Amino acid sequence: MFEHLNTLPQDPILGLMKSFREDSRTDKVDLGVGVYRDEAGHTPIMAAVQSAQQRLLETEATKAYIGPAGAEGFNHLISQLILGAGHPALNDQRVNTVQTPGGCGALRMAAEFLRLCKPDATVWVSTPTWANHIPLLGGAGLTIREYPYLDTATLSVDFDAMMAALELADAGDVVLLHGCCHNPSGADLSPDQWTAVTDLIERKGLLPFIDIAYQGLGEGLDQDAHGVRLMAERLPEVIVASSCSKNFGLYRERTGALMLIAANAQQGRAATSQLLSAIRSHYSMPPAHGAAVVELILDTPALTQAWHHELDAMCRRIIELRSAFSEALAPAGDFSFIERQRGMFSFLGINPQQVKILRDEFGIYMLDSSRINIAGLSANTLSRVAHALQEVLG
Ligand code: PMP
Repeated sequence: MFEHLNTLPQDPILGLMKSFREDSRTDKVDLGVGVYRDEAGHTPIMAAVQSAQQRLLETEATKAYIGPAGAEGFNHLISQLILGAGHPALNDQRVNTVQTPGGCGALRMAAEFLRLCKPDATVWVSTPTWANHIPLLGGAGLTIREYPYLDTATLSVDFDAMMAALELADAGDVVLLHGCCHNPSGADLSPDQWTAVTDLIERKGLLPFIDIAYQGLGEGLDQDAHGVRLMAERLPEVIVASSCSKNFGLYRERTGALMLIAANAQQGRAATSQLLSAIRSHYSMPPAHGAAVVELILDTPALTQAWHHELDAMCRRIIELRSAFSEALAPAGDFSFIERQRGMFSFLGINPQQVKILRDEFGIYMLDSSRINIAGLSANTLSRVAHALQEVLG
């Protein structure tokens, strides 16, 4: 059975991580992989997470199964975090949330659910989008179409092109949107643009599917959820895939949520029963630990406050790095877009050849697309990276 299989090429990010590890230069800089880093280049366990884990260790009484929807308490609290307590969709019982294995699990199960709703469903994704969106959604059998999103000359949202493309979508098509901190570009929709997209989706009878993997790392927990909250209030049906990997730093614990917002409670119950059945036939139920940690944090005021404080500091660090980096780059050209963008990622807008020179000659690692992880910079490395870039741009 195996003998006709070819070895696949290595995943580019994993390949980049390996080359970085093997590079013996002491001043090397990793701007590749998408994890938050502190000033010292570490991805620490957040203090609130450490406290919650400690308490769980002392109080957890069983490891018995939890069921396909995961922990009810987590589902309730994460819905409030995303939508804001007292959101009309919550009050009207239109929201059904299940715990998933990370944001990837949420995206994939959303795709499986969409295929049950409409076997020939088409999902429109932004160009560019996070590379994993394509296999996660396409792998479930959905048809993928692309809408232009980024003006590659200015590295800002090409909103007119986006809207013109979405005008071509058919009723019942699904539109994948990044809730905040667009990966890979860092270019987000403004509140007015969210309103205009909501109008278009409503007028054309499309279904919004929002991936929010960086809530709290763009401008703040509430600001970053603006688009989700708006659509959940104005539109009858919305799908939201969320992740606790970045904002709780729980990456390897695989903690996320999938929210189905339905026109009414009865349709929501029916939809959720279908989703739960799909989950059963995929992984049966999600891992418990990360969601138990999040639930305890969100259910304990002192821990919630500590978490807010730490998340806020991470968010501010990214914003400050963005402005310091675009300032340091001023002699090399106009990089002011970096300051205007949000979240962990931006493109530098250089070509793969220039990316290679930065890697080979300066030990500065980034994806071939020139996407950098802003949090991979520090006060120490920032000017070195800026100078190297200036030299490469000549
Ligand atoms: N969506 C986007 C846009 C992401 O960048 C990521 C993580 N890199 C995810 C979803 C999923 O994250 P995870 O499965 O690790 O929670």
